[in-house]
Amino acid sequence: MTGTGERLDASTVIWTGGMVASALTGQVAPEVDRQGRMAVTGDLRVVGAKDIFGAGDVVRALTDDEGHYSLMSCQHAQFMGRFAGHNVAADLLGLPTREYRQTFYATCLDLGAWGAVYTEGWDRDVKLTHAEGKARKILINTQWIYPPAPDRVQALAAGDPDIQYA
Ligand SMILES: Cc1cc2nc3c(=O)[nH]c(=O)nc-3n(C[C@H](O)[C@H](O)[C@H](O)COP(=O)(O)OP(=O)(O)OC[C@H]3O[C@@H](n4cnc5c(N)ncnc54)[C@H](O)[C@@H]3O)c2cc1C
Repeated sequence: MTGTGERLDASTVIWTGGMVASALTGQVAPEVDRQGRMAVTGDLRVVGAKDIFGAGDVVRALTDDEGHYSLMSCQHAQFMGRFAGHNVAADLLGLPTREYRQTFYATCLDLGAWGAVYTEGWDRDVKLTHAEGKARKILINTQWIYPPAPDRVQALAAGDPDIQYA
């Protein structure tokens, strides 16, 4: 359905809508990028608000030494969350904080009955296709993106900033 109420029948729909960060970022950071994301230091402190740490969709963070920045994605949100949580605790305890680093980056595109395409790295090397790609997509959507069980040991293990997948 279009904005004018017109209905367009189609067998395939490609959604190209973008994403923007919560407007709350404008109340925290003096400047935000064109997606509304706050700039952060290496240890994920919001630039211009040193007592606030940021993670996930609301920040634009350097992920590695090659100049790649975080995207508004689950995998970046999860990795940043581990570092931000660690750094908040470290800051409160007067301990050194950690620089956010994430070498793992993957994409998985579900193409329906054909299967899915799974890539790794910023050059998007194709690693899995068809049914194998689909199996990876199902694993991601049913297990990887979910928080750990509400168990102290599992929760603390899942929050370890040293976790790197590949
Ligand atoms: C339709 C869709 C499909 C997506 N598919 C993928 C995908 O396939 N792969 C991928 O990597 N990423 C995907 N993403 C992106 C992914 O969901 C986000 O990047 C990720 O959830 C960001 O995590 P986050 O913790 O930063 O923010 P969120 O998951 O958005 O969590 C923010 C939380 O803050 C809460 N909140 C907001 N405002 C307030 C407030 N004022 N007070 C208190 N709480 C508040 C919200 O309710 C929410 O629970 C998709 C996103 C969408 C919308």
